[in-house]
Amino acid sequence: MNYNIALLRGDGIGPEIVDSACRVLDKIGEKYGHKFNYTPYLMGGCAIDATGVPLPQETIDGCLASDSVLLGAVGGPKWDTLPGHLRPEKGLLGIRAALGLYTNIRPAKLYASLSAESPLRADISARGIDLVMFRELIGGIYFGERGRSEDGLTAYDTEKYSTYEIERIAHAAFKAARLRRKKVTSIDKANVLESSRLWRETVHKVAAEYPDVTCEDMLVDNAAMQLVKNPAQFDVIVTSNIFGDILSDEASQITGSIGLLPSASIGDSTRGLYEPIHGSAPDIAGTGKANPIATILSAAMMLRYAFALETEARAIEKAVDDVLAAGHRTGDILGASTVTPLSCVEMTDKIIEAIC
Ligand code: NAD
Repeated sequence: MNYNIALLRGDGIGPEIVDSACRVLDKIGEKYGHKFNYTPYLMGGCAIDATGVPLPQETIDGCLASDSVLLGAVGGPKWDTLPGHLRPEKGLLGIRAALGLYTNIRPAKLYASLSAESPLRADISARGIDLVMFRELIGGIYFGERGRSEDGLTAYDTEKYSTYEIERIAHAAFKAARLRRKKVTSIDKANVLESSRLWRETVHKVAAEYPDVTCEDMLVDNAAMQLVKNPAQFDVIVTSNIFGDILSDEASQITGSIGLLPSASIGDSTRGLYEPIHGSAPDIAGTGKANPIATILSAAMMLRYAFALETEARAIEKAVDDVLAAGHRTGDILGASTVTPLSCVEMTDKIIEAIC
């Protein structure tokens, strides 16, 4: 099967880590009989330099015509002083909107071989962390009506959700749970917020269509506590834009290795945007020190969610597990290890070897 992937390499370490992910995809293609075709487009600082804008129309058109989009990262000090509408990050928001990506998926996993990096107490981290958060991305308070009174002394933002918006992300979460440990935790503030009460009712209606998946509700304040007290209890979490924004950062921190974490943003079509959660790391760009794992795991998410290639996705995830368990490290995840850190290319080579 042929798959056309739009590449947004971006800035800083973006080109290095995206190229690593493509090499891993090519290995998967060779092993399982797929062909991945790549077309690069400009976005972020590199697009500003070449065209004057962070998200050229050609990039939007190319992404819309592709089967999926793989992104490195954008931004850097060179563009920090530009006005807001011309900043590289504007490209990110623009491409998410243009592709209608309403679900942000962020797995948070603690690798057994890196458990010492978790800031949690050893007896808690020993029980493991392997969860995936589904955050609603284009609704709620970040997009609701906002304003200030005439005297400027009062301001408001509005949290607003329709059943349609809740249903579509709930379905995505329940479908994902079916491929995992079959449990969904829906996080809200239904004891206070009307929008949360609608969220809860709607999630329960969707849950009835997935009788094989356990569904539980949790208030957001309790969830913030449970994530540090007993993260092993979570499988799939589904929540609103603002709660997901905060909790997904908490979830990634407790794994102790944000440099390893991938993400996906998806909408109604199978096309999505796959990217590491970290930024463009301008401090190490061009030194070969970038850890490619978060981007390689983002490519695995693309195989799973965009192309329904579950076996192939798991092959990449297992290769990463195996390479870390064998003690191979890039500089950012050395911890107390005394091994010589691998370069971006060397770590990619190890992962490709492990797929053989
Ligand atoms: P960052 O994630 O780029 O870097 C934070 C620290 O982590 C740095 O020391 C960096 O060297 C290190 N790091 C990050 N990724 C790494 C990797 N793969 N391997 C090894 N080390 C890694 O965050 P920042 O420094 O706050 O931001 C730098 C730029 O990235 C800014 O312009 C910011 O706006 C942008 N940014 C972009 C995205 C995105 O494109 N989605 C996300 C966050 C930040």
